[in-house]
Amino acid sequence: MANSSELRNDPSTQDRKERSLRKITLASGQDPSRRSFLQMALTGLATVAGIGFNGGQVLAQSQLTPDAAMQELIDGNRRFMSGRLNSFDQDLAILKQNTIEKQEPFAAVLSCADSRVPVELIFDQSIGHIFVTRVAGNFVTPEIIASLEYGAVVLGTKAIVVMGHAGCGAVKATIQAKPVPGQISALFQHIQPAVDQTGANLEAATKANAKIQAALLRESSTVIADLVKESKLKVVAAYYDLTSGGVNILN
Ligand SMILES: [Zn+2]
Repeated sequence: MANSSELRNDPSTQDRKERSLRKITLASGQDPSRRSFLQMALTGLATVAGIGFNGGQVLAQSQLTPDAAMQELIDGNRRFMSGRLNSFDQDLAILKQNTIEKQEPFAAVLSCADSRVPVELIFDQSIGHIFVTRVAGNFVTPEIIASLEYGAVVLGTKAIVVMGHAGCGAVKATIQAKPVPGQISALFQHIQPAVDQTGANLEAATKANAKIQAALLRESSTVIADLVKESKLKVVAAYYDLTSGGVNILN
């Protein structure tokens, strides 16, 4: 059984404490003494965690650097993979109450609509933390760009993850190119460039699609391109493995 010293040195324990305190700080309303105490505690913990602070003042999640925002998602995914989720430890009623007037999500995700990719869950995040856009095949459209621009410029997201996933039906159907009912084929034109690049390998095409869409996002939106140039925003492609539950960042 771990003693208290071991617990202090356990990075995962440290991480849970730090996240827990940060969320409580966000949800703590206007009680100045409570905020001050929590901020002092959080400053110490976050220094250990390597999270950036400005002149000793604790910053909200939306003030994370792009790298810290990515790290938060990666850490959340590790908790998801290990079955040690902590987003449910938070008081949802308080989080909900404190996000009625405004939201400050620290990251955005463009995901497939696939039901096996529950975005908040796989990054172990809760109310108000990530701004999610979804369409089958996770590709960029003017409406998706507009949504993600809003997330970055108005809400202050610091990272955008374009995430494909294993066993994607939209990519598979594009590869197969068979007749489909209704307007389903409207998806294919967006995914076809990836299939042209990789051929019929589903995983390779899905990864190529995520990369192509991330690049499109960087190039098609002057707003996002400028933020990336100023190092205020990161746009990355990723691939979610249904079997392991892991999210791999693609470069
Ligand atoms: Zn899919």
